Amino acid sequence: MRAWLRLLFTSLLCLLAVPAVRCAQRTRAEAEKIAAKVLEQAILIDTHADTPLALLDEEYDLAELNSPYMISLPKMREGHLGAEFFSIWVRPGSPRQDMARRALGLIDVVNEQVARHSEDLEMAHTADDIVRIHGEKKIAILMGLEGGHIIQDDLRLLDIYYRLGTRYLTLTHSADVGWADSSTDKPRANGLTAFGRQVIDHLNRLGMMVDVSHVSDRTFFDTLAATQAPVIASHSSCRALADNPRNLSDDMIRALGKNGGVIQINFYSQYLDSAYAAAYAKLAKARHAEYRAVRRKYASDRKRLAEELRKLEAHYEAQLPRPGLERIADHIDHVVQVAGVDHVGLGSDFDGIDSAPRGMEDVSKLPNLVRELARRGYSEDDLVKILGGNLLRVMRQVEALGRRMRSEKGEQP
Ligand SMILES: [Zn+2]
Repeated sequence: MRAWLRLLFTSLLCLLAVPAVRCAQRTRAEAEKIAAKVLEQAILIDTHADTPLALLDEEYDLAELNSPYMISLPKMREGHLGAEFFSIWVRPGSPRQDMARRALGLIDVVNEQVARHSEDLEMAHTADDIVRIHGEKKIAILMGLEGGHIIQDDLRLLDIYYRLGTRYLTLTHSADVGWADSSTDKPRANGLTAFGRQVIDHLNRLGMMVDVSHVSDRTFFDTLAATQAPVIASHSSCRALADNPRNLSDDMIRALGKNGGVIQINFYSQYLDSAYAAAYAKLAKARHAEYRAVRRKYASDRKRLAEELRKLEAHYEAQLPRPGLERIADHIDHVVQVAGVDHVGLGSDFDGIDSAPRGMEDVSKLPNLVRELARRGYSEDDLVKILGGNLLRVMRQVEALGRRMRSEKGEQP
């Protein structure tokens, strides 16, 4: 096709808003204009941040100015963030009697922060809540339960966590949980066991999202076969661009698309960029030895320990080839190519990662990504979907299925 014909053809497709067809790249000035418009109307949703650990262990307050954390209230405002899912994570292998106490402590400290900063923050329990809170110019706070071990093989405990406001369950963390396997552990369940399928059914019934980040490939496909609702990968990237078991292969991304689900791209440099990961691996041994020594030295002073660990991180980070934020956009582009623009979103993993790309050091930098995506030619509608619309759609579908399943059984809808 002649160049001018091709241009006419693409422009026509752009005008018709044909899905997954991108317009030609925009100039920086054009991109800036589109991004500003999109930031006005889109609800930016991040589905994974580990900030509650600092809230609980270091008495960190979100309103702190010049906070060393990737997420703070001023940074969320600067980044135009609309909703954040804080992770309720308990270390796998923790003594059973500590599991619930730790999870409840994290849930409590999130609620306490929201109450303390109620002018800016509000707890959200539904997709409608997110939209309403955003309309009131506040930031919606939600919670996700990270790791099936936290429910201790007890569906009643899962009910309780739901009532306390958690809205997704990541089936595993870094270790298998008996009924589901982790991508970073030896398989024991070989996918999902019968109880694992019961957990999925229970989540569907509750109207709570199933999160497949961290699970093994086999568990991923078993989960898609078991669920009646779309699922999310709350913080994973693409294996085709960075070969790591924590990322999803193209087959998995395609299957997730068919399921109607969404992959929320993780911002961790190691999950985004293979060159960074290889350089990181070379330094890992020395780095871990130093980390261990610092942990021992400051074990009794958690605040000081966090400071010293940050210094160490910065020291190593300076030696590594950190990718630019364009790499996040590459992963988004890849999902759009493989599964379509309806199946991708953002799951930063902020405050749980020791490296984020240049230009995306913390949540205040989100507009940089919006500008980069705008520059690549995405339409305004597609940007709204990627930044949070897709996640809202999945959340609504999950809620609707839960209501239907409960009312069919004569349970309280
Ligand atoms: Zn995680």
